[in-house]
Amino acid sequence: MTLNVRIALNRPLRRLFDYLSPAGISLAPGQRVRVPFGRQSAIGLVVETDTPTPDTFTLKTVEQPLEDWPALPPETLTLLKWAARYYHHPLGECLFMALPPALRRGRAAERKSEPLWQASGHLDDIPKRARRQRELWQWLSECEAPQATAMVLAQGFSRSQLNSLSKGGQIKESDTRTTRAGSETAAVADLPVLTGHQQEALNTIPTPDAGFTTTLLYGITGSGKTEVYLHYLHQHLADDSQALVLVPEINLTPQTVARFRRYFGHRIVVWHSALNDSERLETWLRVRHGEPVILVGTRSATLLPFTRLATLVVDEEHDSSYKQGEGFRYSARDVAVYRGHLNQCPVILGSATPSLESVHNALSGKYHLVKLEQRAGKARPPEIRLLDVRSRPLEGGLSRPALAEIQRCLDNGQQALVFVNRRGYAPVMMCFDCGYMMECPRCDTRLTYHRRDRAMRCHHCDYQTAATEHCPKCHSDAFKPIGQGTERTEDVLSDHFPDTPVVRVDRDSTQRKGSIDNILKQVNSGAPCILVGTQMLAKGHDFANVTLVIVVNADGGLFSVDFRAPEQLIQTLIQVSGRAGRGELAGRVVVQTCHSDHPLLNALCQGQYLPIARQMLAEREASQLPPFQAMAIVRTEATTMAASLAFLDQAKALASEANLELWGPLPAVIARRADRHRAQLVLLSPGRKVLAQTLSQLTLALDQQRLPAGLRWQIDVDPLET
Ligand code: ADP
Ligand code: ZN
Ligand code: ZN
Repeated sequence: MTLNVRIALNRPLRRLFDYLSPAGISLAPGQRVRVPFGRQSAIGLVVETDTPTPDTFTLKTVEQPLEDWPALPPETLTLLKWAARYYHHPLGECLFMALPPALRRGRAAERKSEPLWQASGHLDDIPKRARRQRELWQWLSECEAPQATAMVLAQGFSRSQLNSLSKGGQIKESDTRTTRAGSETAAVADLPVLTGHQQEALNTIPTPDAGFTTTLLYGITGSGKTEVYLHYLHQHLADDSQALVLVPEINLTPQTVARFRRYFGHRIVVWHSALNDSERLETWLRVRHGEPVILVGTRSATLLPFTRLATLVVDEEHDSSYKQGEGFRYSARDVAVYRGHLNQCPVILGSATPSLESVHNALSGKYHLVKLEQRAGKARPPEIRLLDVRSRPLEGGLSRPALAEIQRCLDNGQQALVFVNRRGYAPVMMCFDCGYMMECPRCDTRLTYHRRDRAMRCHHCDYQTAATEHCPKCHSDAFKPIGQGTERTEDVLSDHFPDTPVVRVDRDSTQRKGSIDNILKQVNSGAPCILVGTQMLAKGHDFANVTLVIVVNADGGLFSVDFRAPEQLIQTLIQVSGRAGRGELAGRVVVQTCHSDHPLLNALCQGQYLPIARQMLAEREASQLPPFQAMAIVRTEATTMAASLAFLDQAKALASEANLELWGPLPAVIARRADRHRAQLVLLSPGRKVLAQTLSQLTLALDQQRLPAGLRWQIDVDPLET
């Protein structure tokens, strides 16, 4: 009997592949290899070595290892194996997520040999008259990573400027293997002095000596959580250790990075979707080779091969961008917490509106709860008021009193923000005169409107009835899907306020590089303007002159079929309210609703998140929803709805032996997307173990099925959207 190795390939297959080791070479788990696969060769990752060879068939031999060291060190391998099991996703695809694209394709894991330049020393060391040299120094010191000569030249600087600075020692070649970034960190004196409250919060976060701890830093908007992270890292991160700071994509602006870099210099490296392949490889190598970096990055940074990870921070931990929405549907926050456990180091989750999962963990004592309930500067929390718009004429979703408020705000030379809630733009029908909504006669849920077949359906059982055009209760013809009309909000604002700029902030207008900066520049100039947009507006920006926030339609979130929609609505409203009155001027928030007596909205007016979170948790407990039960969804898409549903019927039959609560199968809320018919089966269980076992058996059985052409299915564990 010979010994062989088991290899993972970057394919959506729930299996490993056996190969013989090449003669005279011993391979280690995590190592990158080239292997013959079919008629081609493929890049693989060694998962197991020295496994006994099955005698029944002849194996091919690994062509060659690509490095003599494992691309994935043991801790990263353990982490990803766990994640593959937890999310029931093929291991190969999970493992390859930890490699930069260049290495997935088989490129060498080496830096290009050309020098990369970074600033060192001080600007003051460069003579004032050497203007271009000073500009070059400044540019380099603001860059997110050391820059190649070609990049320097492309910026319009010359080789002689580069050489002068290099000779004078004001810039140097970065050698990523030897940089001991610790020597470059700023003096503690450069950090702003913490307020008393911040200091108190900092002192109560467990230190690394305590091993693995998870802290929920609940700090209201503007309380200065970032300063607390910075001080924590400064005090507790050893010079030779690595840290990971996760931020939502939209928050990873140059300003944020500059804030970190001011205190940690080139020890800060970044990781986000706008990096090119070389930049990713460069950063990946620094992380893998154990350089003591502090990595500020978005979701996928959680999976990088750190070898000396000693602290993890997840900023805005409630943010839904931490959950990958397709393929390997991991939650970066949850993976980060597990990684803290693996490394026996502290994890800090920060938010003004923490997820109900984290609040639950904090209240049950699993997490430490640290509160920061004062704003750092002079700004005071805004005043929140409900405006009942039942029976009021609406234009583009806006009521007359709301338009009058905007007018007053502009007259005072200030800026207004109009927030259109799109999330939970669920097809729920509501009477805009009396507020009535149709409920399922069998379940305690609202019916969903399906426009294609003009049907009203229950999301939990299979009840359905024809849609009506008039309110069944008061017979008004204002019986419409919630959110209707808000597509026109921006036009109506432009018509009403022709002399005022209306600035749109949404996914499209912020995704282009630099566009959010331009928007911020315009807004921060302070001249009157109206910002209009969706969820994007709520995220982490400082608009000093915004004093009024109008929320166009709160009801979509309150009455969505998605059980998380109220949580997300409240989080968004508090975040968006946090945009008002960040400066010296007090802020006001006006929330339009047809349900001004709703307990959550009334709690919102008290301005405190934790009591509302408790209220929402009580509701979750009463209906046995997460975090009180574990949830997973089997999602399908196919060329016909019948095929999608038939497949899920089989899945249901396979799962029904276990003691689980099952909803469906049902068409998804967005039942058709790009000509694909989407359906889902929801599984709920009081115990994670039972759910995990069921899903393992289910995936095993479903993998054996012959699928109808064009059918795809996926498992979504801890789904954010139902
Ligand atoms: P959060 O993330 O909690 O909303 P930030 O960390 O962005 O808050 O801080 C909000 C504002 O307050 C920022 O402009 C920050 O520079 C300022 N700030 C925070 N802490 C201090 C402090 N101790 N001294 C001076 N300014 C502070
Ligand atoms: Zn009515
Ligand atoms: Zn029902």
